[in-house]
Amino acid sequence: MSDVISVIDRPDSKLVADVSPSPNIEPRQRGLTPTIIIAHYTGLPCVEKSIEVLSRPDCKVSCHYVVGEDGRITQMVAENMRAWHAGVSSWHGETDINSASIGIEIQNPGHNGGYPDFPAMQMRAVTALCKDIIARHGIAAERVLAHSDVAPGRKIDPGEKFDWPGLHRAGVGHWVEPMPVNPEDRGFSGRKQGPEVLEAQVLLARYGYGIDPTGIYSERMKTVLSAFQLHFRPARVDGRLDLSTFATLKRLVDTLPDVAVG
Ligand SMILES: [Zn+2]
Repeated sequence: MSDVISVIDRPDSKLVADVSPSPNIEPRQRGLTPTIIIAHYTGLPCVEKSIEVLSRPDCKVSCHYVVGEDGRITQMVAENMRAWHAGVSSWHGETDINSASIGIEIQNPGHNGGYPDFPAMQMRAVTALCKDIIARHGIAAERVLAHSDVAPGRKIDPGEKFDWPGLHRAGVGHWVEPMPVNPEDRGFSGRKQGPEVLEAQVLLARYGYGIDPTGIYSERMKTVLSAFQLHFRPARVDGRLDLSTFATLKRLVDTLPDVAVG
């Protein structure tokens, strides 16, 4: 197997402290190159355990980079290779997200492990790494995404504590200030139809989320709205179409560069 794992012989980024090759790799399909960055949390208790799991052939998972709580960056898969981090997922109709993305696993035990805050030192390293990848691949701001964005319902990482606004202030990712939540506004909670529902679905789909505009507030819509809220309106993640969610979504789509719309 040494010929396979020798694919990464030197790191792609100057920010990498360690190289720890994973055998769980293959070529990117259909000539795809990285146009998306996917942020994950590892959901495992420590970075050593995460790197071990991401290296085990029987686990069938891998990622390009792991960022420790101390900000130390380990590269596990060369950027020109397809790593196995996204699973069943979609964005703007592309369902082979692994071939179209670079995966960054951020060490954090996740919601099942107490979900501690992401340390500032770690977020600084994630920011610097994203900037480095974006500069080398020309990745658009609105294509720096959460795992939950491309796999709503199936994944919730990196979760509501991930500092998207901080990344955006540093020039990474697309984000707008969310409209404040009105505690009285519980939005739609049940099965309901209406022009607002259809408009919200059209906007979600235009942004990239995997949802068909049906005009019906379905379980799928609740799931996708929850994913949207995890990234863009984390103050209340409940999947309801309230005014704050709707207005934040509208503003987000309104501030998309023209090239990404349509
Ligand atoms: Zn993930």
